[in-house]
Amino acid sequence: MTDYNELAAKAVERYNTRSGHRFGAGCGLKAALVDMDGVLYDSMRNHSKAWFRLMSEQGIACTPDDFYRFEGMTGVATINTLLRRNSRPEISHDEAMALYQRKAGYFRAMGAPDVMPHTIDVLSRLSDNGVRCVLVTGSAQASVISRIDADYVGIFAADDRVTALDVVHGKPDPEPYLKGLEKAGAKPYNAIVIENAPLGAKAGHAAGVFTVAVTTGPIGADELYDAGADLVLPDMATFASVVPNILKLADSI
Ligand code: CA
Repeated sequence: MTDYNELAAKAVERYNTRSGHRFGAGCGLKAALVDMDGVLYDSMRNHSKAWFRLMSEQGIACTPDDFYRFEGMTGVATINTLLRRNSRPEISHDEAMALYQRKAGYFRAMGAPDVMPHTIDVLSRLSDNGVRCVLVTGSAQASVISRIDADYVGIFAADDRVTALDVVHGKPDPEPYLKGLEKAGAKPYNAIVIENAPLGAKAGHAAGVFTVAVTTGPIGADELYDAGADLVLPDMATFASVVPNILKLADSI
């Protein structure tokens, strides 16, 4: 049986080597930069279906699983990537936004996605220990973003949110996570990123932050480690059980 506390300790050692910084140096763990889809909400199935419907209507070849690999990118970047892959002519930003809005409508019509089981346990344990939680999402889906305060009461301060509308370059660029660090007033080595997607893990890694990825969808641990995750955990309940050790690891050095 895997000892996840031991796995976390080894991941921190690797992080210290790769980043050239000691995890938690100076003031321990100060901030958690938290992705939304596939982390706060079990919403990726619906996103994948909505995207697949839109692209099929447009005659653009793709598979439902493609959207798990594009996850984290902004909607416009997803559309442009698929157009290029299908050798289709470029479209304007406004045209891409109109397509994205149609996809957002299909997503909304499927109803509110479920809250991801046990993510609240992870975030409460962090928050109770003085770790500031900042939302960092590639989404602009107001129908989900607006539910966060009700589903995650007291976790995210009103201004502690970075969405697709706040960045020029979405994930896998580090910009969203760098903006999250700025909002929290934290150094990369005093923070963690919480992700579920390869492109999100790549962004967290590139921002120099200890990146925890949780396999909440069809993408396996190997792919998340390859993308740059420092620690991959099987589910949020396991993550919640490892939080005390992560806090200790950040404080012990
Ligand atoms: Ca995600």
